[in-house]
Amino acid sequence: MQIIKQRNQLTPLSTQLRAQGAKIGFVPTMGALHQGHISLVEASKKRANITIVSIFVNPTQFNDPKDLEKYPRPIEQDIAMLEAAGCDILYLPEASDIYGPVTQVTDKFDLAGLDLELEGASRPGHFAGVAQVVKILLEITRPDILFLGQKDFQQCLILTQLINSLKMPVELVMCPIYRESHGLAMSSRNVRLNPQIRQKAGAIYASLQYAAAMVNILTPQEIQQAATAALNTIEGFNVDYFLLLNADNLKPITPETPTNRIVIITAVLVDGVRLLDNMVIS
Ligand code: AMP
Repeated sequence: MQIIKQRNQLTPLSTQLRAQGAKIGFVPTMGALHQGHISLVEASKKRANITIVSIFVNPTQFNDPKDLEKYPRPIEQDIAMLEAAGCDILYLPEASDIYGPVTQVTDKFDLAGLDLELEGASRPGHFAGVAQVVKILLEITRPDILFLGQKDFQQCLILTQLINSLKMPVELVMCPIYRESHGLAMSSRNVRLNPQIRQKAGAIYASLQYAAAMVNILTPQEIQQAATAALNTIEGFNVDYFLLLNADNLKPITPETPTNRIVIITAVLVDGVRLLDNMVIS
């Protein structure tokens, strides 16, 4: 695996590989890699000839400086995992290689209001930071296919909107959520949970399964209330939202919304750690 720290090395290499006919897959990450990230690398290796992974803890998408500071950065372990997974190129930039001298969001994006709800409501500016860094990363890496995780469902919709509105020549593939054996969606933040509460956090997945099973039996409001109440009874759990929404635009569902276009989406603070999960009803 080649480790590249500078865009002026990566962009010409990517351009040259594409000119030689290679299909390039790109997996952006913030590191602290787990099997969920590796499943994206594997998806890329199936569809593309060259897989580029980036590790960059993007300061502009953090609202809380403490959260940015506490974000885990086990870089040697990450490199070993990417080597083992068969990643071809790791882009490991400093902030100055991404942003230049001042690390800030400079573009104005049309995110169709998708950035204001859910995660956007409690983390103002978060998605502008995400959109900015992904736009820059796509300009630097020039991939054919961008692989993202369904775990961050709202982020997938927002980046689809970004790519469409800017007419960027890249295909977006959303990969399924990779879970721990008891159902908890894998996340770099899970290491902050103590083992007992990490085990209990499997209840989040169970609540999504309950909601999916009830979708033709109870009203969305009844399901939302029941699931929220059940999760809030667990010590240390505090539900921010648990909602059934239209999976295409995150708007409230109506009786006309086809069942297979419903997403059940939740954010739960578990011992103060914000955990996200969702399920699209099939
Ligand atoms: P992050 O490093 O948290 O920014 O995540 C990088 C990419 O990995 C994003 O596209 C995430 O949605 C994806 N990802 C994170 N956790 C999982 C998971 N458990 N399963 C699948 N993809 C994931």
